[in-house]
Amino acid sequence: MRIAIFGGTFDPIHSAHLVVAAEAARQFHLDQILFIPNAVPPHKPGRTPYAQRLRMVQAACAGYPQFAVSDIEQANEKSYSILTLERLLPTGGEWFFLIGADAFAEITTWFRWREVLALVTFIVVSRPGSTYAIPEGARVLPLETLELDVSSTRIRAELARGEMPAELPPAVADCIRAEGLYGF
Ligand code: ATP
Repeated sequence: MRIAIFGGTFDPIHSAHLVVAAEAARQFHLDQILFIPNAVPPHKPGRTPYAQRLRMVQAACAGYPQFAVSDIEQANEKSYSILTLERLLPTGGEWFFLIGADAFAEITTWFRWREVLALVTFIVVSRPGSTYAIPEGARVLPLETLELDVSSTRIRAELARGEMPAELPPAVADCIRAEGLYGF
């Protein structure tokens, strides 16, 4: 099995996440994309509760046979990728880490980042306005055919204004309406 971990806040998950995952699977012959919502993102405190973000990710991925969702970071006090990798990698398979250029640009700030780089190959997806350096020793497969101008930040702002953004998968829009998230 060739599996890519796709970690994130997913606050909320949006169409670019799904397109990025599908395109990575296609270009790099992956069997599975494992979406892992972060429990308490060290860099993004004070966001939507974990349970609701997890539910939206599950709803968005439901129709995609290659997409799976893991709640492995639920128990972590903080979401450190190295701890997740240390639990997942021994289960077997060939592991990749799918990440946007903006997030990869900050990789050297991650807890035990050198060990993270030593453990997995990164698939780094281009994103408008983001550039990144490749630290020595990192294995990087660039995915540069996408340049999607979508972010959760903009989606949250639109929802707060009472607009339902087109970049939200219908099942996610339903969750947001049902639970009254983001001030919608
Ligand atoms: P926020 O705006 O709240 O910071 P976000 O839209 O960047 O959120 P995250 O949940 O932080 O979404 O992203 C999870 C992963 O998906 C990260 O690796 C991020 O770089 C990547 N990603 C998100 N949006 C895009 C995009 N439009 N193109 C490429 N990668 C993306």
